Amino acid sequence: MKPNLREECGVFGIWGHSHADILTYYALYALQHRGQEAAGIATVDECEKDIDVLRGQGLVSEIFNESEIKQLNGRSAVGHVRYSTTGDSTLLNSQPLRVRLKSTSLALAHNGNLINAGVLRDNLEEAGSIFQTTSDTEVIAHLAARNPEKNIEDSLIQTLRKIKGGYALVILTPEGMYAARDPHGIRPLCLGTLDGAPVVASETCALDTVGAEYVRDIRPGEFLVMDSKGRDSKRIADADSRALCIFEYIYFSRPDSNLAGQNVHRVRKKLGEYLAMDHPADADVASGVPDSSISAASGYAEEAEIPYEMGLVRNRYIGRTFIKPEDELRQVGVKLKLNPLTKVLKDRRVVLVDDSIVRGTTSRTLIKLLREVGAKEVHMRISSPPYRYPCYYGIDTSSTGELIAANRSVKEIEKIIEADSLAYLSKERVAEAAGATTESFCTACFSGDYPVEN
Ligand code: AMP
Repeated sequence: MKPNLREECGVFGIWGHSHADILTYYALYALQHRGQEAAGIATVDECEKDIDVLRGQGLVSEIFNESEIKQLNGRSAVGHVRYSTTGDSTLLNSQPLRVRLKSTSLALAHNGNLINAGVLRDNLEEAGSIFQTTSDTEVIAHLAARNPEKNIEDSLIQTLRKIKGGYALVILTPEGMYAARDPHGIRPLCLGTLDGAPVVASETCALDTVGAEYVRDIRPGEFLVMDSKGRDSKRIADADSRALCIFEYIYFSRPDSNLAGQNVHRVRKKLGEYLAMDHPADADVASGVPDSSISAASGYAEEAEIPYEMGLVRNRYIGRTFIKPEDELRQVGVKLKLNPLTKVLKDRRVVLVDDSIVRGTTSRTLIKLLREVGAKEVHMRISSPPYRYPCYYGIDTSSTGELIAANRSVKEIEKIIEADSLAYLSKERVAEAAGATTESFCTACFSGDYPVEN
């Protein structure tokens, strides 16, 4: 029942630490929510030309074992968890992507999506490049390989000047580790330090997990060099207007992460409070769709002065190999993932809070389920605006045709999902909850205003 939509990816890197490999493994656990299709770790020792890579398909817990991790060599490492936003979901496409250039070796870990990857790839192929994967990350490697610059840093900076889209990149070489963020800062990336070693991660929860201290976010358009000489901040481009993906706050990031200094749980709780202020409902109890909407639902309940109750329990153990039930057993499939608590919901007027409606399948199914166990009324409250436009910067939201809000009014959606009432939060309120204005964010999925020109 959870949509086929994908999250994005998670990246991590650490330079010059005697436990680089195992710390990266732990960090990938912390970033698992950002991608569950594949994961990988690459390690290197300074001045050794060879980069070791371990990659596999599935969850971090399914891929790595202790003896293999022990075989990785090197005091520096990058790691990646993946959902395919571009390219097929094959092992070949999993990351870090390791390539050998004439001058050095690279391991690339990339979160995001390049909007001009197709054109760049065509040009490279016409000029003779042979691609091994269908992922757009390989385009970056090919461009770097062809760059005439003398050193790898300059090659990479020149390369990044040619790519467009949303990206957070960590690149490992024997000479140094590089972290880069697109000029709008669409995808998150932060810097920390552990025992004097620089650490970079998609989210601060990974820094917490390995015991690293948060230093700052990587700046939009920044190219950060980390090597034996220390840290050096360079620029890919002048920072354009900031446009952090607003959906990071709404859904993607872990509640214990901080983005641009704002704690995700607290922002979500505020979203719930604003929802209750702007769209009150006569109800007895508020519940959230686990896990991403719990914070918002608790905020709603507090503000509305009604009890917060656990109306649905999620089963966390449905893995990739889950056998989807045939149509006749569909109900089993739904309840296996999310089971409603009859004793909490029966004869109650329920406010059900979710962070988003994308195709509408989740809301429709859950509302039906709540009614079946005796809920008297179900008022759906969404802690974000209607999701109307596809994302081109690293979130796989299928095509516009699949987005229920693309061409429908809120009233029409309310009817389709069979809610007693439905209301969404405005994007201004979402930005306010994150301590800023809408200009600081990419809100393209709600507004159709894309920050990067095509
Ligand atoms: P849908 O059933 O298509 O309307 O999807 C809405 C549900 O999917 C909500 O419960 C969200 O928490 C969740 N969701 C939103 N965006 C994504 C995404 N990109 N990947 C996976 N789940 C998502």
